[in-house]
Amino acid sequence: MDKQKKGVRLENISKIYKDPKTGKDFYAVRETSLDIEPGTFVTLLGPSGCGKTTTLRMIAGFESPDKGEIYLGEEAINSLTPNKRDTAMVFQSYALLPHYNVFDNVAYGLQIRKVPKDEIRERVMNILKLVEMEGMESRMTNQLSGGQQQRVALARALVIEPGVLLFDEPLSNLDAKLRVTMRTEIRKIQQKVGITAIYVTHDQSEAMSISDKIIIMNKGEIEQMGSPREIYYHPASRFVADFIGEANFLKAEVLEENGEKATIRVAGNTIEVNNFAKAKTGDEATLVIRPEGATLAETGVLEGHVTLSTFMGSYQYYQVMVGDMEIQITDYNPVNRRIYEVGEKAYLDFDPKGVYIL
Ligand code: ATP
Repeated sequence: MDKQKKGVRLENISKIYKDPKTGKDFYAVRETSLDIEPGTFVTLLGPSGCGKTTTLRMIAGFESPDKGEIYLGEEAINSLTPNKRDTAMVFQSYALLPHYNVFDNVAYGLQIRKVPKDEIRERVMNILKLVEMEGMESRMTNQLSGGQQQRVALARALVIEPGVLLFDEPLSNLDAKLRVTMRTEIRKIQQKVGITAIYVTHDQSEAMSISDKIIIMNKGEIEQMGSPREIYYHPASRFVADFIGEANFLKAEVLEENGEKATIRVAGNTIEVNNFAKAKTGDEATLVIRPEGATLAETGVLEGHVTLSTFMGSYQYYQVMVGDMEIQITDYNPVNRRIYEVGEKAYLDFDPKGVYIL
């Protein structure tokens, strides 16, 4: 199976398109470098138009970069056509052959590679078992549900044992519940096979739940690459903090920077927080607090006034004015906690390890 564990490396890749409206050239992907380790599940995540699909299509060979080099394992692949690359793509539209049954759809890639008949049967049956579609070999694709079609599409890609599996928003045509089921299945299958996978989505919870590493893209460039935890707890920029999960941003001034920490002034209060951003004394900074990262208490470091207090079942949702800044708090499992009502004074209580400046 080691054959199915190829790394992918992009060295200074740029892709320039012409904007059809203005006729001007623009960078869909700009001087992007990244290194994907063999066997990892990596997701390209970002808002519409940030260059995720273009990056994926360049790796697959459907687009060629204007600058830079792409490596699959140790091999430079820019000049190879898609079918000469050791990759297979699972598309949003499934791209199944409509007049073929399930078996023939999965077998197709092996037939054109002239694999012997007996081996084809064995490999197809094994893969159909893996994607839980055994017994459905003779069904025509139009007799399958969306989820089943996506399983067949996945089987078609896996059966040729590519070095890297590419996914272009594969679940966006499925309903919300099935999307959640399918994403865990894709992840389990990838872990079982141990294959390198690159997955494009604009759905952050999909990316969080499925990936070893997430690459956050913005306007053709990589903002950050890291594990879901790193991205969530140590976002490299306000864009990332805002894009992943919910976040409150408070204006602050750095009074003193002391290594990993900084003493800041925020809404008239002086507190010490993490300084991953390496802000300097005198800088204007943004304090980041996740809504679940703070609770309301009788004492604390930041004083506020409650302007909204709503019971949501698993949490109490608050809006609190701290100085002239409104912040949102989700106080989980509030059953045994004091509930603060609108108009009350309360302090924000948080573990300083969980808050930081950008
Ligand atoms: P989405 O989530 O909407 O699919 P994306 O991040 O995958 O977005 P890309 O499809 O990579 O974005 O597109 C990046 C930019 O390049 C967009 O502005 C898009 O309109 C533009 N673009 C993509 N393909 C072409 C093309 N063939 N010609 C001109 N512009 C293009």
